[in-house]
Amino acid sequence: MKQEKQNTNTLTGPGLIRDQSELRSQLNLSLRSDETAWFRAEKGMPFLLPSYYAGLMNISDPHDPIRLQSIPTDKEFAVAPQELPDPLGEKNFMPVDFLIHRYASRALFLSTGICAMYCRHCFRRNYTGKLQAPTGKQIVSAAQYLKDHVEIKELLISGGDPLTLSIVSLDRLLGIFRDYRPDIVFRICTRIPVVMPQVIGGTLVEMLAAYRKNGLYVITQYNHPVELSFESREAVRLILDSGIPVLNQTVLLKGVNDDAGVLEDLMNGLVGAGIIPYYLFHPDMAEGTSHFRVPLKRGTAIFKQLRAELSRLALPEYAVDLPGGLGKVSLSDSGIVEAAGNEYKLRNSNNQIFTYIDFIE
Ligand code: SF4
Repeated sequence: MKQEKQNTNTLTGPGLIRDQSELRSQLNLSLRSDETAWFRAEKGMPFLLPSYYAGLMNISDPHDPIRLQSIPTDKEFAVAPQELPDPLGEKNFMPVDFLIHRYASRALFLSTGICAMYCRHCFRRNYTGKLQAPTGKQIVSAAQYLKDHVEIKELLISGGDPLTLSIVSLDRLLGIFRDYRPDIVFRICTRIPVVMPQVIGGTLVEMLAAYRKNGLYVITQYNHPVELSFESREAVRLILDSGIPVLNQTVLLKGVNDDAGVLEDLMNGLVGAGIIPYYLFHPDMAEGTSHFRVPLKRGTAIFKQLRAELSRLALPEYAVDLPGGLGKVSLSDSGIVEAAGNEYKLRNSNNQIFTYIDFIE
């Protein structure tokens, strides 16, 4: 496989806002001073925003949830002491290039560094937005690793956003993995149905549906009920009608959705759209994201309200990934062993107990 083929992606032509002047001309948005500061400096994760997603924004609201997720601010320059460039320690779990093997039964493949939108809360911001994609040789090495490790049952195809790859490139990628491991279950992790649903067309869905044998799931990231627009729901409908299940992982984000009422509307809206609310993730300790972080105490109080109001079908699992790759902790039940001030003792899925120092508001 040629490197150029792998880098070919869907992000060409109109429909994308790439800089401050396009933001002004397409959206007539007057930026706040903390937003213009970022555009002057352009440090860290790049900026890219689909016009469709920008159109969901109420431009007269400076704290609009779409705006907070998509327009960078100078708050991203501030790195809190507990924040890390690689908050989940993924680099320590890469047996071969682009493949992360942190849990015995599943692995994650970084299919591309490109996304349709660079979410300002992205925890993998150290990787996303960079023009890096695996070569054909590196894909084969990852597939060989899967073949040698039959304990891996599921492969998360992530990045970056795998649905920014061309249909040909993604088909080839999935084909190689299935050649080496016919039984591997795919999870396609994507924000495309949320931020650029027009990419979800019949040809793409048909290609994905061809891999349903032995399991293929689409995992989305809806964070606010406004994102469940008609266009977005139609895109999901196309996926569901092909027989591919769709599950959602929401990130709990300060100012965006740290409100039980907003999350209730979101989870009920997801169920109505045929999407299963899977996880509500407590935000990770990624550099430059402290303005999005919700204290654990507040997160657990919100979840308590959700548990009281939502049906079991609409209730996601509330969880946090421990910094440094120490595993996932369920905050829905017995994960919190002890809490004293901002210091928590948390139990991971292997029954190990770790100290978690929370961010204080
Ligand atoms: S689409 Fe996913 S990987 Fe890309 S910036 Fe958003 S959260 Fe990060």
